[in-house]
Amino acid sequence: MKSKNIKVLKQLLTENKNVVIIPHTNPDGDAIGSCLALSSLLKKISHNVSIISPNEPPHFLNWTPGFDDILYFDSDPEGCQNKIEFSDLIFTLDFNDLNRIGELGGIIKSSNSKKIMIDHHRNPKDYAYLMFSEPEIGSTCELLYELIISMGFEKSINKSISTCIYLGIMTDTGSFEYSSVTSRTHQIVSQLIDKGINQNEIHNKVYNNSSSSRLKVLGLALSNLNLLEDLKTAYMFLKRNDLEKFNYQKGDSEGIVNYGLSLNNVIFSVIFIEDINDKNNVKISFRSQGDFSCNEFAEEHFNGGGHINAAGGRNDGNAKDSINKFLKILPNYKEKLIS
Ligand code: 5GP
Ligand code: MN
Repeated sequence: MKSKNIKVLKQLLTENKNVVIIPHTNPDGDAIGSCLALSSLLKKISHNVSIISPNEPPHFLNWTPGFDDILYFDSDPEGCQNKIEFSDLIFTLDFNDLNRIGELGGIIKSSNSKKIMIDHHRNPKDYAYLMFSEPEIGSTCELLYELIISMGFEKSINKSISTCIYLGIMTDTGSFEYSSVTSRTHQIVSQLIDKGINQNEIHNKVYNNSSSSRLKVLGLALSNLNLLEDLKTAYMFLKRNDLEKFNYQKGDSEGIVNYGLSLNNVIFSVIFIEDINDKNNVKISFRSQGDFSCNEFAEEHFNGGGHINAAGGRNDGNAKDSINKFLKILPNYKEKLIS
């Protein structure tokens, strides 16, 4: 992190400000955790803060401290626009491209408020007055923790803020499984434990809180698994009709793509999920092990991006169209996949 940026941000925060904090569309644990942690910290040091999310997160995040104060642009666009109009600072958390927040992106772009990006994805776009972009760090929450410490606000980190930060680190590292986890990650977790967090409870609330629809959707995806042995790749799909039959809830498909990587000799796993609300849209998740770059693959072929080992994207049409496109492209990557 650039020390000049840290100084500038600290300076900006010396006077009371109207602050807006924004996570990406379909916010995950890292996006919600970082927004709530930052919001809580800024409120403690006397700023006026609103979190505006493009849409609602999945239900397994609804217990997080401060969750009920989040505003949703899709259900109250005018109220949210008003907050943005009267803001001095806009923090954008866990994304680095205004196209990740849909219609809100245009409003943020044309706002005169100073924008501050705090993010860990690759290839940041140039829209922020201050950019804290650290793709080597495993989660925005870990990066936010470092930033809070660097600004000298360590004493303001209480149990609620620590809980939110732990949530984001835990979910974005696959519960400390990914190679993005460092000894520093564990040092930070140790400090969060010293602040009184209950990791077991956080873990249970996020992972052991499934509805039966989630398990049925998981079963369906696994029964639709295809293995391309010679390309070390597995892919799955979920069709709209089946999702409707199982009473699919938002968040039910979260993490399913990772099961592909549990197969021996598979280093690339992909899931195609038909959008339940949009008949012409397929959401795609990519996961890899090692050097195979999911974000490059997603960027080049499926209007997406993310990290080396985890990325997302989308495609027009139905799952079958997307899979056909994928199967045509994939052999071009054979060398990279089997090296
Ligand atoms: P997921 O597959 O869980 O939706 O996303 C995996 C990772 O890729 C997350 O870090 C997420 O932020 C990122 N990601 C997902 N969809 C997109 C997208 O459309 N564009 C970009 N740039 N990143 C994405
Ligand atoms: Mn993240």
